[in-house]
Amino acid sequence: MREILISQKIEHNKEYHALCPNCSSGSVSILLETSDFKFSEEKFAISKCSNCQLIFTQNPPLPSEAGYYYKSKNYISHSDSKVGFVNKLYHLVRSIMLNRKRKILEKLTNSRKILDIGSGTGYFLNELKQHQWNVTGVEISEEARIYCFSKFNIQTHDPSYLTSLKVDEKFDIITLWHVFEHIYDFKGLLENIFTLLKDDGKLIVAVPNSESYDANYYKEVWAGYDVPRHLWHFSISSLSQILSSKGFNIDQIKRMPFDGYYVSLLSEANLKNRFGFINGFKVGFISHIVSLFKKSKCSSLIYIISKTKNHV
Ligand SMILES: [Zn+2]
Repeated sequence: MREILISQKIEHNKEYHALCPNCSSGSVSILLETSDFKFSEEKFAISKCSNCQLIFTQNPPLPSEAGYYYKSKNYISHSDSKVGFVNKLYHLVRSIMLNRKRKILEKLTNSRKILDIGSGTGYFLNELKQHQWNVTGVEISEEARIYCFSKFNIQTHDPSYLTSLKVDEKFDIITLWHVFEHIYDFKGLLENIFTLLKDDGKLIVAVPNSESYDANYYKEVWAGYDVPRHLWHFSISSLSQILSSKGFNIDQIKRMPFDGYYVSLLSEANLKNRFGFINGFKVGFISHIVSLFKKSKCSSLIYIISKTKNHV
């Protein structure tokens, strides 16, 4: 049955979006073809719109069927195991990153009311709660919400919460850490965020960078594509154009160079290279060094965003 389902989906994937899902331009061409290396092994084309520069996954699953492609993502199992070198390293890197993310926010505001969209198992919300932030989380996975509540005693909400809030409940900071590239209706989400964010609030968006050194090096096996879970593959110019059409402006861009090591190692795994670990580390290192001189080549970027004052 599953094989039949997959073959039907492959059949379906031969049809392509003729128009850009962002700007409806017909100037869309295929950039490359990649695979769902993580789970289904189905092939997906990636296209680029020459009008708005958006790069996007062709023929993604319907939103109602997308959960199928997340089955390989085990958010829970390795979260708490501290056995072995890899898990110890994972915990160390996570703790450094949580701390760095919190410090970025604390430089932006003295008020501490935050909404984290795509809060997952809640480690980031917990880091903030420990430092006297007023935290709210939204997460689509029920399993992750249950984990977050049982481990951290933080009650997070399903996405319908975003449209059910009272109008006077506004946030100082709204964060999307590697989430925006998964959102089907990204324009609708930006409209919600515009309403939910205080006028002097900040929106933080972290996404993989499709113009990074490692994306250019690995091309169709670049793990940052992660199709069909990643629907959009942003660059500085495409994201900036989308944000400005919804009343936002990019204030600052920060690098996430350590993502380059992780993404390069995963890309080597996609290549099934015997000594991929060594090459992955090398490519991650080069990506890191290049990004020090040219931010636009960094594997992932953090965008710090404000509302445009005169947007209607
Ligand atoms: Zn377009």
